[in-house]
Amino acid sequence: MAYNFASGPATLPPDVLKAARDAIADCRGTGLSILELPFTGTAFAGILAEAERDLRDLLGLSGDWRVLFLQGGASAQFALVPMNLLGGRRDADYVETGHWSRRAMAEAAKWCRVRTAARGNGRGVPPPEQWSLSADAAYCHVTTNETADGVQFHRLPDTGAVPLAADMSADLLTRPLKVSRFGLIYASAQKNLGVAGLTLVLVREDLLGRAHPGTPAVFDYGRQAAAQGKVNTPPTFAVLVAGLMLRWLKAGGGLPAAAERNARKAAALYAAIDGSGIYRCPVEPSARSLVNVRFHLPDEADEAAFLAEAEAAGLLNLKGHPAVGGVRATLCNAMPEAGVDALIAFMADFERRRG
Ligand SMILES: *Cc1c(COP(=O)(O)O)cnc(C)c1O
Repeated sequence: MAYNFASGPATLPPDVLKAARDAIADCRGTGLSILELPFTGTAFAGILAEAERDLRDLLGLSGDWRVLFLQGGASAQFALVPMNLLGGRRDADYVETGHWSRRAMAEAAKWCRVRTAARGNGRGVPPPEQWSLSADAAYCHVTTNETADGVQFHRLPDTGAVPLAADMSADLLTRPLKVSRFGLIYASAQKNLGVAGLTLVLVREDLLGRAHPGTPAVFDYGRQAAAQGKVNTPPTFAVLVAGLMLRWLKAGGGLPAAAERNARKAAALYAAIDGSGIYRCPVEPSARSLVNVRFHLPDEADEAAFLAEAEAAGLLNLKGHPAVGGVRATLCNAMPEAGVDALIAFMADFERRRG
């Protein structure tokens, strides 16, 4: 039995993979594959509507939120957030906590004056009380889970009248969320919501209609919202898989149950790291990610041996992000507890053999 610990595209539940295969053969009795189904027809309209309904149920989204199924990945959103939200303002606040927030800031700097409201040290999250927020910022941007650094927000700020915009690519739907704190949430699908090619954008209605005139129509939140996401062809297969993931999540007890499973997996792995003689997690306990568990061995030769032997034992894609090195185990929703148990057993065995 192999387990895929990649951060994204991440592992998928076997039931979802099977249902996706069935839909490639014949999508819901239409006689057509999902790959050839017209996006303007009633069958696809049903797939889209069900996915949106399940997402709204899971997150408790109120009617004043719009759900957009876009393309371009979270990386496109790094530019599209300022393009859509600035509305003529010059400044946006950013909280810098690691690799992905820095990427977001670099793109945003092409469109606005990026103010660093707070900066983490790569091992923690600066406490919200210490952020220096600007009253006339168009929005405040956070990366709730730094996938490369293994850092996660466990406490959210209150930014008052300034809309909070969040890259939640890695941790959306991994735990219950107080959506009312936010104005905008975006996430690439290939972490917890299926396959690459789909970017989920959740946006509060009152923030629509501010897009810069140069914004491409397909990336204008207001236009996409008005056209039910059909300004152009949506990523139909990725939407189908997202719908399957949402249904799987609901059947498993929704977000409270997912959060319990995820917390158990992460606690077991961090305990194994902290209790060992050779593994070390550099992230402060209060900011440790429950999704991306990052750790290091005493030196690079140990890490190379660990990764090669893990791969041979069926524990796949544990290499850390190139920006930080080391080992990274991604425990997204679909990673079973048995996968984490297998990793922990392997780590103990590796430590014993290394002596
Ligand atoms: C994976 C990831 C991204 C990049 O997503 P793409 O789909 O490759 O653009 C951005 N932010 C975070 C937090 C991520 O985990």
